[in-house]
Amino acid sequence: MPALFDLDNTLIDRLDAFRRWTAEFASERGLGKGAACWMVELDANGSVPMETFFELVRERFRLPEPAGELWRAYRARLPHLVSCRAEVLAGLDRLRSAGWAVGVVTNGMADNQTGKLERTGLASRLDGWAISGAEGVSKPDVRLFEIGARRCGASPAAGGWMVGDDR
Ligand SMILES: [Mg+2]
Repeated sequence: MPALFDLDNTLIDRLDAFRRWTAEFASERGLGKGAACWMVELDANGSVPMETFFELVRERFRLPEPAGELWRAYRARLPHLVSCRAEVLAGLDRLRSAGWAVGVVTNGMADNQTGKLERTGLASRLDGWAISGAEGVSKPDVRLFEIGARRCGASPAAGGWMVGDDR
């Protein structure tokens, strides 16, 4: 039976990584005092589409690059700022030892989410994963959960658990 997990703010602390990214970005670009806090507020814990987020960041700080380019650079950097607690990794190992198929079902871009899975050591501990940006379907659509279950070698009809903080 599969135990499927959300990634951001479930297995990894996305907010912590995002805060670190805003501080780094603001400092590199010389955006001034308050810029990092402004970006954290604008992001509203990941509830604003990143395309919109980077349009607004570009406009506010008069940045020369297109928003799409800023977003791409962010996705390349964020996996380097996330970590997964040792207790979480050990917990997933215990679940697998107990016979569960363990997977991740996450909404996001394939490069960013795959990078996070690989950098945190999660990828080597999972039976499979489904990323909305790679599959063309997003949570809460049931099809993404079904893909995640199948990737773990499980039949979606057999049931299982989905664990997450939000969506
Ligand atoms: Mg989440």
